[in-house]
Amino acid sequence: MCEETERDPLDEPVKAGIRFLFSSVPVTTGIRVPTPPIWTGGTGTMDYFDEFGPRRKTTVAKEDMKSCYFCLNLDLIDGEREPETIELPEGFYCHEFLELNPLDIQELLFFQRKYGLVRGARETKPYGTKMRDRQRPEPKRSVFSGINAEHYRGQLEGIEASAALYDSVPDQELIDERGVIKLGAVSFQEAICAVLDAQEAIRNTTRVLRDDLPAMTRREAALAKISSEYISQFLPALFPSIELVAIDEEGRSSHSTASDLITAVFAQLARGLLNNEAYRVCENPECGRLFTPREMGRRLDTKYCCSGCQERAKRLRYVASHR
Ligand SMILES: [Zn+2]
Repeated sequence: MCEETERDPLDEPVKAGIRFLFSSVPVTTGIRVPTPPIWTGGTGTMDYFDEFGPRRKTTVAKEDMKSCYFCLNLDLIDGEREPETIELPEGFYCHEFLELNPLDIQELLFFQRKYGLVRGARETKPYGTKMRDRQRPEPKRSVFSGINAEHYRGQLEGIEASAALYDSVPDQELIDERGVIKLGAVSFQEAICAVLDAQEAIRNTTRVLRDDLPAMTRREAALAKISSEYISQFLPALFPSIELVAIDEEGRSSHSTASDLITAVFAQLARGLLNNEAYRVCENPECGRLFTPREMGRRLDTKYCCSGCQERAKRLRYVASHR
């Protein structure tokens, strides 16, 4: 057997040029993400959190993945006031979001308190459906079909776990507070895997525009394709192809700009893919952030994400050469 036949053809470079084609341009400014008070529930969940001292567990044990969950803190919800919302910082999708380690569950909790609740690719059900059926978490069928079912299996199981928590609440008119909380539960697994899948989608698609790496392989091109399809499933919620809006007397439209966190991240990413000709990883060995010179207002040929990193890298080189 000769060695050449053993080489996986998927690792060969792609011959064709790979580009993104957009049929509409998502505008990301003005998209707001609600940041309601978030807490956690489920047996043993307290072992993972301590804002003031060492925690008993930092990463989630397998047995707690499906039974522990994020939920709204009902005590802190003020029915009188509109829920608070934030606009994501510029470049959030390739900075803060990529730097998040969702497996450190306390980090994920604080992240969601700051930037909004994370949920997986759930079905949105039409108005007119019975309230109880409408609220029940169900995986968005189009996302988890075909080869995607295998690719996004963790997230699929996470959403099913959230549905099981929902189903554990008896279907009756009067439910106690714990029941109400469980109806809106997002299992740890659903939140963790939704973040991991979104992070992978960001890495896979920005890979197409990485000018600091060699030509893409077929495998990378295939992953970028799966990921761009995944992202496309989220965007229509924010950017419907046709939208009926009402204009009030002051000329303001009722265009809906409220979004969940993952969809808002994908809107930023789509805008980034459309606007930027290059992504790179910052060459400061202590940083390593993915960045785009344009978004950071940097020279287009720069190797560093900010002037601080440029200075730091220079200093490190100087120290190394004088050792
Ligand atoms: Zn940097």
